[in-house]
Amino acid sequence: MSTLALVWFKRDLRVQDHAALQAAARCDAALALYVAEPEWTGSPECDAQHVQFAADSVATLRTDLAALGLTLLVRVGDLPQVFADIYRTVPLTHLFSHEETGPGWSYSRDKRVAQWCRSQGVIWQEWPQSGVVRHLRNRAGWSARWQARMDAPIADIPQGLRAAAVPLMAGDFPALRTLGLPQSRPTPVAGTQAAVATLHSFLRYRGARYRSDLSSPLSAQASCSRLSAHLAFGTLSMRQVHQATEARIRELQASDNPQERSFGWHLRGFSGRLRWHCHFMQKLEDQPDIEFHHFARAYDGLREGEFNAAHFEAWRAGRTGFPMVDACMRCLNATGWINFRMRAMLVSFAAYHLWLHWREPGLHLARQFLDFEPGIHWSQMQMQSGTTGINALRVYSPAKQQADQDPQGVFVSRWVPEWGTPAYPPPIVDERSAVKQAKDRIYAIRQSQQARDEADAVQQRHGSRKSGLPQSKSFSRRGKPAEQTTPPLQRELFE
Ligand SMILES: Cc1cc2nc3c(=O)[nH]c(=O)nc-3n(C[C@H](O)[C@H](O)[C@H](O)COP(=O)(O)OP(=O)(O)OC[C@H]3O[C@@H](n4cnc5c(N)ncnc54)[C@H](O)[C@@H]3O)c2cc1C
Repeated sequence: MSTLALVWFKRDLRVQDHAALQAAARCDAALALYVAEPEWTGSPECDAQHVQFAADSVATLRTDLAALGLTLLVRVGDLPQVFADIYRTVPLTHLFSHEETGPGWSYSRDKRVAQWCRSQGVIWQEWPQSGVVRHLRNRAGWSARWQARMDAPIADIPQGLRAAAVPLMAGDFPALRTLGLPQSRPTPVAGTQAAVATLHSFLRYRGARYRSDLSSPLSAQASCSRLSAHLAFGTLSMRQVHQATEARIRELQASDNPQERSFGWHLRGFSGRLRWHCHFMQKLEDQPDIEFHHFARAYDGLREGEFNAAHFEAWRAGRTGFPMVDACMRCLNATGWINFRMRAMLVSFAAYHLWLHWREPGLHLARQFLDFEPGIHWSQMQMQSGTTGINALRVYSPAKQQADQDPQGVFVSRWVPEWGTPAYPPPIVDERSAVKQAKDRIYAIRQSQQARDEADAVQQRHGSRKSGLPQSKSFSRRGKPAEQTTPPLQRELFE
């Protein structure tokens, strides 16, 4: 029987290191498809910038596939209906794609696709494209598997693809307004070429002071890799980034020049974060409901009934009267990116100072982050809100962050030009009492038997086995950590 494969592109918008495309080259004929799904474009996490970046990446993917002799079909519609429409014209035998660790809507869609494939006798084969392991039983050995996957050979750009001769229109990526979306804010250049250039400039020059520069919003913009959106849309694979980084570290470490060896040390800090990317995604893969529910259910009801809409509006507009918070939010809202430390501060402020449940702030931030990656995002939202049950509370003081990360007020003045004038609002909460109350309430729950039992379970299910952290009771049951401190091991693991 001859084989006809449909390669379904999702968040893997590249032709190299693409297992599904490689497999299609071994079939008698192949088709390639990207679907702009209304379930995605209409979801509360999706913003016009995401769709614009996808559209631009799809345009470059189309060119790259054309060079391989394959036309990329682009459709708008629900799945599996789009597959069914194609199947009416083309007798597919196989559907090839990468595994996706996505939000609830994509999880349900995958179930429908699997059902449709079964009903039509189409064989759906999926491959992992990160370190996330499907159907993981427990975390033992996870890190070694990550390493093995990332060290595996990068799949070549496939040659010898045979395009199926079918009477199907190629189709265009829809304009944002036809999807009911507003015009996008400016987005970085998308597509694999831009991703490769970004990686190159980071590994060659920009990353030379990575560890020292990553916490300040002034320096992080240039000194961080800025690869996160490319990883989220798959214009480069994690394996490609990992292997290029390791090769560069080897080169730098072999140098006699101390500056070059220092550069290698900075890149070592970066390479660890690539593992974290998958470590956090694994949590959503293993427990899809963390998008909606607390990791530790002992925290249910903690903030839900007390959502202050006016505080939320002030926070998301960057008008809280806390200049560092407002500057970071305005920068993020305008550009689609802010560095890790400032993301953590924004969430800590929402969670402790304003006592907001993480879901609505998380949706706002998901729309603002061009790199929105559900597994990292929802895990971090809960971690910074104190509801995982296993992490030390981190309450960031905006004033301390400003003193540490923007001592001259350069960043704040740029984004909050009215700071220091009567036009700037006074603080919307009294910091000292708000934080004290928040901590008291969280610690009260932490000390309950339910929270202690759950902490052990969460640690067993989601905790890293590589950190050297105590695994269980001694970790979850230790007393109040001192204000603003983070034990070094935890900092190493999670920041
Ligand atoms: C509340 C909150 C939400 C976040 N949401 C996202 C998200 O939706 N998507 C996302 O990619 N990152 C998210 N992060 C993690 C981190 O802030 C971003 O990965 C980073 O700022 C992206 O910029 P970069 O690529 O220049 O990072 P770099 O510092 O250059 O890091 C390289 C890569 O490592 C990974 N990485 C870095 N830090 C972390 C981390 N703490 N946890 C997991 N992976 C990490 C990312 O893939 C990143 O692209 C979030 C952090 C917080 C505190």
